[in-house]
Amino acid sequence: MQTHILGYPRIGSKRELKKACEQYWSGKISGTTLEEAGKQIRFQNWKTQQEQGIDLIPVNDFSFYDQVLDMSLTVGAIPERYAALVEKKFSSLDLYFAMARGYQKEGLDITAMEMTKWFDTNYHYLVPEFTADQSFSYHSSKVVEEFKESIELGIKAKPVLIGPVTYLWLGKEKTDGFEKIDLIHNLLPVYLEILKELVENGADWVQFDEPILGLDLSEKEKDAFLMVYKTIRKTFPKLKTLLATYFEGLNDNTGLALSLPVCALHLDLVRNPEQLEELVPQIPENLSLSLGLVDGRNIWKNDLEQSLRILNNAISILGRDKIMIAPSCSLLHVPYDLELENKEDILFPEIKRWMAFAKQKLKEVTLLQELSLPNPGKNQLLEFEANRNAMANRKNSDLIHNKAVKLKVESIAPADDKRKSEYASRSILQKNFLKLPLLPTTTIGSFPQTGEVRKWRSQYKNGFIDKKTYQGLLKEATETVIRKQEEIGLDVLVHGEFERNDMVEYFGEQLAGFTFSQYGWVQSYGSRCVKPPIIYGDISRPKPMTVFWSTYAQSLTKRRVKGMLTGPVTILQWSFVRNDQDRATTCKQIALAIREEVIDLEKAGINIIQIDEPAIREGLPLRKSAWESYLKWAVQSFRLSSSGVSDATQIHTHMCYSEFNDIMPSIAAMDADVITIECSRSQMELLDAFADFKYPNEIGPGVYDIHAPRVPSKKEMVQLIKKAQDVVPTAQLWVNPDCGLKTRKWEETEKALKLMVEAAQELRETE
Ligand code: GLN
Ligand code: ZN
Repeated sequence: MQTHILGYPRIGSKRELKKACEQYWSGKISGTTLEEAGKQIRFQNWKTQQEQGIDLIPVNDFSFYDQVLDMSLTVGAIPERYAALVEKKFSSLDLYFAMARGYQKEGLDITAMEMTKWFDTNYHYLVPEFTADQSFSYHSSKVVEEFKESIELGIKAKPVLIGPVTYLWLGKEKTDGFEKIDLIHNLLPVYLEILKELVENGADWVQFDEPILGLDLSEKEKDAFLMVYKTIRKTFPKLKTLLATYFEGLNDNTGLALSLPVCALHLDLVRNPEQLEELVPQIPENLSLSLGLVDGRNIWKNDLEQSLRILNNAISILGRDKIMIAPSCSLLHVPYDLELENKEDILFPEIKRWMAFAKQKLKEVTLLQELSLPNPGKNQLLEFEANRNAMANRKNSDLIHNKAVKLKVESIAPADDKRKSEYASRSILQKNFLKLPLLPTTTIGSFPQTGEVRKWRSQYKNGFIDKKTYQGLLKEATETVIRKQEEIGLDVLVHGEFERNDMVEYFGEQLAGFTFSQYGWVQSYGSRCVKPPIIYGDISRPKPMTVFWSTYAQSLTKRRVKGMLTGPVTILQWSFVRNDQDRATTCKQIALAIREEVIDLEKAGINIIQIDEPAIREGLPLRKSAWESYLKWAVQSFRLSSSGVSDATQIHTHMCYSEFNDIMPSIAAMDADVITIECSRSQMELLDAFADFKYPNEIGPGVYDIHAPRVPSKKEMVQLIKKAQDVVPTAQLWVNPDCGLKTRKWEETEKALKLMVEAAQELRETE
């Protein structure tokens, strides 16, 4: 029985790779120094895994930016627009980063490759681009180089490749007249070349990541699976192939997966534990099973007793030799090392006892292996005992359980998630009460978070300035932003969000049931990392969270100030969530806390309240069959949070960039009075979903892109608003930027907003 992992985090335990990449991009270090930093991280990762006793250590899970981009370079899928850089003899590193980040220098302006979410995670990959005449060639030998590097260190590692069928699935068809899956015949020969080189260099095992085996597949995709893995088997009869599935169970693809001539099949038994029972009796003679027992997506300790039960059961049917133990998926999605957390006021010791980061998960994998032996060692038994105690302690801890909160969720009444009246009557009340002009102008919430603002926060957090001084500075910033908005002529103002570090963390810090880490970083994309809050227990709101800042801002102006909150689904989605109760219940607890805040804001005289929900779409399950039940509780949670106010109070929501087409009924069911969305980059195309649906409430389609410093012209914005007016009645439209302005500079922000207000005024006059 072997232990292995599918992949390890690679940003470095203290984000060394992030820092090195950013230094390289700003010209402060050389390519060689960056390469060296990468090498150090790989070595350190391998060493850690070796020390923890992992048998099969992965290579090629390392990446300077993204493993899908690595694969595109490996198979030579380099879009035409980068040809100029190849001609200029760019180093492979610079070409790589140009594809990841775009290139605007020396008269060139080449856009980056598109980025999108890696399945249902918060990791983003760079989308491969395919054309009808797409050809592939063996271009970068990164995987072979890294394999050789491991051999030199005396580790016979297991190279990891994104499987060819999943690789094609991840990409985008950039021209008409073909189906990307048909490219498999061009792509497979390149994979065979890579495998040949790996085999020649001594590779025993190769891991193929094919997570799409957990999704709804077309007949062509199924055929491709058979063709690919039969060919690989035929070409390399001695190579041990491991097919890795994760994030979903195999379900109706079980038969297909079991018919593929591979040596081992990896299953995500955290996401879908039931599949094992169905699968085990059908396992073909020569197939080993890799049991993904340790959660690669969350930070909780493994329940060893429960895992051991599953493991021993599998052993009794299949025998030890046919079983491998692993985490459920790559450990890329969890932080490095829990032992780095040493501040008890940040992460409570009792909660820390229930947790495991990547390094601790390695240990869990090897412990399971040892505990399944007929006579486990004494130390292992002690560890087992400690684990059992931690589990029991967590189950009964007062920190987790709050009877009042549980009761509140249980007694949610049917009327609680409904506004008092239908939108049609609310809208009349709101129009009379709020007295806003046609095409009202507003922003999405945050204003530039300058270096200064961030400095105040870090000075305050590190004890260099006291609370009063900090608040004084924030008050000044808030007053300035109110004056600026008045001067610009916006209709509905915001307080600017200067007091917030992050739209989820800010609320987590004030809600009971959340804790935090110092080094719990996870890669989001490239050098960008996030440190998700940790939801460990029942959630409640000890006291108002935003009323102070919203009412302070309102006291400074006669215009209306919009209250600003993050919605329950987004708070859930961007945190590590407790796994001892279903997500729906946790989400409803958050919803009730936000509801209290909404009611308090209204009481304090704030009559326009925005509840941001950019993460609703990304929470969708991978299988369509599970969408309905998710959408039901997600929408209900939003409605619970927003329905405690009177009809005249106007509820806004903001959803960033989302595909709305296939979830339009649910978006409408959220029943926000106003929804703002990102639209400018799609030239208002996203609005069509709302128009086709005849969406009845108000909409603010973003009229300018806030992701770049560029100031749009008034004419451009007028045109975009007109485009919106073509599909949505003017009385239903708002005018606003695409998203919050926190990453922008003041200079461009003021200019752009002035022009935006002028654009709205010009169009009002023509009505
Ligand atoms: N209110 C938030 C802001 O303006 C919204 C950000 C978001 O939805 N991503 O920053
Ligand atoms: Zn947004």
